[in-house]
Amino acid sequence: KPCTLQRGLVGEITHRFERKGLRLAGMKMMQLTDEVLSEHYAHLSGKPFFQRVKDSMMAAPVIVCCFEGLGDVYKRQVRTLAGPTNGRLAAPGTIRGDYSMSFQENIVHTSDSPETAAIELTRFFKPEEIFDYKQATFDYLYANDEY
Ligand code: ADP
Repeated sequence: KPCTLQRGLVGEITHRFERKGLRLAGMKMMQLTDEVLSEHYAHLSGKPFFQRVKDSMMAAPVIVCCFEGLGDVYKRQVRTLAGPTNGRLAAPGTIRGDYSMSFQENIVHTSDSPETAAIELTRFFKPEEIFDYKQATFDYLYANDEY
């Protein structure tokens, strides 16, 4: 999120996902627009803080990343690493628990299911910006019957 870029935390946050063992398949900086955010946060359109959240997401560029891993990575790994939405209530050890005091300025957005991830990947990346390469450490991240 823009707060992460402004606070100089981009390296630390992407490192959290890297060191978990997720494969970085795509990464870039972009400036979000009201149009894209209205679609991205459509589920919040009835909330009183809708515009405030969109303004916060446009306040500076964002870094968008595509991380990949085996299994139910969205719910079990990525969402658990991020922690619950309100940074003030998030447990230490989670990204939001370690770096955020806010409901809104909560460092990261994460996809919450494979279906959402597929939609969000097409929203933020062109196909040629996602890279398919073998992770050199793959055989040391997983047992051979876990593929
Ligand atoms: P998450 O980012 O954890 O998936 P949501 O999709 O529910 O959470 O909300 C999207 C974003 O909207 C949150 O990350 C946060 O920045 C903001 N938000 C959600 N609920 C609130 C709230 N009650 N007050 C302020 N901001 C909120």
